[in-house]
Amino acid sequence: MTKVRVSTCSLAGCFGCHMSFLDVDERLVDLLERVEFNRSPLTDIKACESCDIGFIEGGLCNQENVEVLLQFRKQCRYLVAVGACAINGGIPAMRNSIPISDCLEEVYLNGKGLANQLIPNDPELPRLLNQVRPIHEAVKIDYFLPGCPPSADEILNMLQQIVDGNEPSTSHKNIRFD
Ligand code: SF4
Repeated sequence: MTKVRVSTCSLAGCFGCHMSFLDVDERLVDLLERVEFNRSPLTDIKACESCDIGFIEGGLCNQENVEVLLQFRKQCRYLVAVGACAINGGIPAMRNSIPISDCLEEVYLNGKGLANQLIPNDPELPRLLNQVRPIHEAVKIDYFLPGCPPSADEILNMLQQIVDGNEPSTSHKNIRFD
């Protein structure tokens, strides 16, 4: 039987949605008969190959996030936005009302106890976007899983429905909007 290939990816998030995914615990083992994991914390594969389902957490805060998202979208048949940061920018988007120069000065120049008061400017560093943006503004998203983070039950529920070939629907009892 051909297995469904699943990948996950994190942009501007805290990895908490991935932790929730891992809270599926031993139920993941039952899925392994029908699912194989590509890029994910379970495999430590860094570059995503073509896959059936991609779960992505985090919004867009820098240019590298945009490039990773565009690449991930190309590789995934279905793309699921997981968690508040992916869906509306979440906590990182709290900086959106503050000019980026003020944010950098507060963090690198005015904070207490800083050893080197210098705003990093290495050309290797990804360029910050002026605002943190949700991922649906850059690519098509097939399904959304709200929550901060969404529950492990809800992540598993969506994965199982896609694996079963059904159109995923979220169950209201497990949906969180925190
Ligand atoms: Fe972390 Fe919450 Fe954002 Fe998920 S939605 S990446 S748990 S802050």
